[in-house]
Amino acid sequence: MAEVLVLVDHVDGTVRKTTAELLTAAARLGEPSAVFIGTGFESARDTLAQYGAAKVYRIDDPAVTDHLVAPTAEVLAHLVDQTSPAAVLLPSSAEGKEIAGRLAIKTESGLVTDATDVQPGDGGGVRTVQSVFAGNYTVTTAVTKGSPIVTVKPNSIPVQEAPGEATEETITVPLSEQATTARITDRKEKAASGRPQLTEAAIVVSGGRGTGGDFGPVEQFADSLGAAVGASRAAVDAGWYPHASQVGQTGVSVSPQLYVAAGISGAIQHRAGMQTSKTIVAVNKDAEAPIFELVDFGVVGDLFQVLPQATTEVQARKG
Ligand code: FAD
Repeated sequence: MAEVLVLVDHVDGTVRKTTAELLTAAARLGEPSAVFIGTGFESARDTLAQYGAAKVYRIDDPAVTDHLVAPTAEVLAHLVDQTSPAAVLLPSSAEGKEIAGRLAIKTESGLVTDATDVQPGDGGGVRTVQSVFAGNYTVTTAVTKGSPIVTVKPNSIPVQEAPGEATEETITVPLSEQATTARITDRKEKAASGRPQLTEAAIVVSGGRGTGGDFGPVEQFADSLGAAVGASRAAVDAGWYPHASQVGQTGVSVSPQLYVAAGISGAIQHRAGMQTSKTIVAVNKDAEAPIFELVDFGVVGDLFQVLPQATTEVQARKG
C-alpha cells in the first residue's frame, strides 16, 4: 500500500488535534506516515501510534527548525521524491498552506487547500471537497498531476483511533542555500489564555461591533462551554480584541461543531471564515440582520441579556 505523508502539527512534541484528523484521513488513502520535524518526539510517539501512523520520519535539525517554512517544504519534497506517496496532507493553517504551495512547486504536483473532506478517488487518486465563495458552493476536486498535496481544514474529519506500532526512521536532508535565507532570531511564547486554540476549537463564540467593546459576556459564555473566542473585523479594528482572533476572509477560517455569533451582522467577509461550521447560532437584536439567513438557531435579543442567561443555564446544567 502506498504511503500517505502527514506533516505533524506540534509544539515541542505536544501534538495538535489536527494531526489526528490528518492521520485518520490518510488511512482512507493508504498507509499513514507521520513526518515529525523538531524537538519533543518522545511526547508525540504514543499519540502518533494511537491514531494509526505506521511509520514516522523524524528530523530534529536546527537548520530546519530555526528557519521559516522553506526548509520544511524541502524536507517534504525530499520524502515525496523518496516515497512517491499517494498524497501529502498538511493542516490548513497559514503556515501549512505556505509549505504546501512551496511543496507543490518543488514536486510539480497538484495542490488543494482548505479541503473539508478527503476520500479515495473513483478511479484511484484522491477526491477532495472544498467549500468556496463564502460557503455558497461545494466543489469536488481531483488532483491530476504528481502526488496530491492537500491542506485540510481543522475539525472537518471525525477522528478515529487506530492503535498500532510505528516504525521510526531518522532522516537528514541537505538544504539549499535559498531555504535558509530567513532565520528565526527569537521566539516568545504567547501568554496562555486557558482557552482552546481558535482554529481547532470544537466550539467558538465570537463577538462583533454589537458588544460595544465589552467582550465580558462573550468570554464568560465561551468559558462555560470550554470554547475559543473569536471576533469580527469591526471589533478587531476597533482594538477591542486581538487581531489573531479575527474570523473571516482576511482573518482565520474556523469550522467548529458549534459557532455562536453575538452582535455580528453576518457580512459576507465574516461568513467566509465560519460558514462551514456544523451548527451556527446567532444572537442579534436586529431581526433583519443577514446573519439570520444562515443560522441553525437564532435569538433576536440583546447579547448583554441573552449571553449571561445562557451562561447561567449552561453552568447549572453542568451542575
Ligand atoms: P456590524 O456590521 O456593525 O454589525 C453589528 C451587529 O450587532 C448588527 O447586526 C447589530 O444589530 C448587532 N447589535 C448591536 N448591538 C447589539 C446588542 N446589544 N446585542 C445583540 N446584537 C447587537 N469582517 C470580518 O468579520 N472578518 C473578515 O475577515 C473581514 N474581512 C474583510 C475584507 C474586506 C476586503 C472587506 C472590505 C471587509 C472585511 N470585513 C471582514 C468587514 C465586513 O465587511 C464587516 O464590516 C464586518 O464583518 C462587520 O462586523 P460586525 O458584524 O461586528 O459589525
